[in-house]
Amino acid sequence: MTIEQLDVVILGGGVAGLGAALKARELGRRAVIFEARASAGGLLDNFSIDGFRFDHAVHLSFASEEKVRAIFDRTPYLTHPADAWCFETDRWLKHPVQNNLAPLPPADKVALIKSFLARPAELAGDDYESWLRHQYGDAIAERYPLRYTEKYWATPASALSTSWIGQRMRRAELDEILYGAMSTETPNTYYTKEMRYPRAGGYKAFIQPLIDASEIRLQHQVVAIDPAQRLVRFAHGAVVQYQQLISTLPLPVLVRVSSAVPAAVQQAAAGLKASAIDLVSVGFRRPVTEDLWFYIYDEDILAARAYSPSVKSPDNVPPGCSSLQFEIYSRGEQSRYTPQQVLENTRAALVKLGIGRPEDVLFMDHRVLPFGNVIFDLGMEGRRQTVLDWAASAAIASCGRFGAWDYLWSNQSLLSGYHAL
Ligand SMILES: Cc1cc2nc3c(=O)[nH]c(=O)nc-3n(C[C@H](O)[C@H](O)[C@H](O)COP(=O)(O)OP(=O)(O)OC[C@H]3O[C@@H](n4cnc5c(N)ncnc54)[C@H](O)[C@@H]3O)c2cc1C
Repeated sequence: MTIEQLDVVILGGGVAGLGAALKARELGRRAVIFEARASAGGLLDNFSIDGFRFDHAVHLSFASEEKVRAIFDRTPYLTHPADAWCFETDRWLKHPVQNNLAPLPPADKVALIKSFLARPAELAGDDYESWLRHQYGDAIAERYPLRYTEKYWATPASALSTSWIGQRMRRAELDEILYGAMSTETPNTYYTKEMRYPRAGGYKAFIQPLIDASEIRLQHQVVAIDPAQRLVRFAHGAVVQYQQLISTLPLPVLVRVSSAVPAAVQQAAAGLKASAIDLVSVGFRRPVTEDLWFYIYDEDILAARAYSPSVKSPDNVPPGCSSLQFEIYSRGEQSRYTPQQVLENTRAALVKLGIGRPEDVLFMDHRVLPFGNVIFDLGMEGRRQTVLDWAASAAIASCGRFGAWDYLWSNQSLLSGYHAL
């Protein structure tokens, strides 16, 4: 068997792998990307059904880095205000919900605000549940973010750390809560004001220039890595030898396929959990929503969130039609539901949400993404460091959302790959 000799080998053809290939080109080195799937783009890829295009979960860009904007801005784009909604029982509230309580009955508002005023002055622990109770008070925390956590992270808040929060959660301010309890005319406090999306071609169009410029071998699933010999083997038997290895594979996968990994590192990697996402994509024969995206608090609806590809860009649907995609989260690489449960539940959800009529639905597609969000379990950071230290000692540059094992947006994943070389 011949072993192909290569300079830079990049594992994974998502935006992080493409960022690493860009850097290699700038350095005048030859890099080859190996991707398991039949098309490049990773989480930024999309699929089409009967003229409807769906991304892999909601994707909008709020990149600010010059390097990223220089790439993304080559593609003509639409801009959207970052207006999101929340659904609870039978009503819609603006996001973030604690600052937009106006539609609730007066007694509910009084109870929630009294609880906010009586919130604990000190954090009871370093877990997310303690953070939520300390920020919002027990009543708001229990009615909204604690419930949502079970849906979105598929993990109790008491078992999560807070290191991922950053700007993602709006800190509670009495003035904002009171104002939003009395008026629906509240300012947008989302951490970014404007979201960008390609006019045509789905989110992937932003990274198409990188795909076009890279040498990518599709349908090359990595099944073994021998860091000592600098060899990578693929499912169909081909083997390559590298000078330098960049991996964007999820850390647990990297450890599973690598040889001579110490037991302590294997154990640490096995303890790294991400969420799998059931995507339910719905095509409608007529316009049914003007909302870009919304959160769903009710437990009887499995989806934590939904967004509209047709609102992101009309190019995503045939003329006169519209679309939605629901996101349902599970802990681990597999769904906690059967396909039938997911589809039946989404059908019932449309009725409860009051979106469209059953006869407006042209199709419902169901598929599962095995890796969605890294879960910030308490103690995860230590386990991640153990694995990253081993990867560095094996001269594997591990990068990207799942290679760095972090809550990275597409722009950050691109730069993570770019700086790995
Ligand atoms: C629900 C959700 C919503 C998001 N919304 C946004 C948003 O609005 N804006 C934003 O900027 N970012 C968003 N992101 C983040 C963005 O999707 C990621 O940061 C980015 O796509 C990660 O790129 P990556 O290259 O690191 O990983 P990936 O895209 O996962 O690429 C890794 C690649 O490795 C391949 N691979 C895996 N195993 C193997 C193997 N054994 N052999 C060969 N190849 C393999 C995979 O097929 C994949 O193509 C969102 C992510 C999720 C999950």
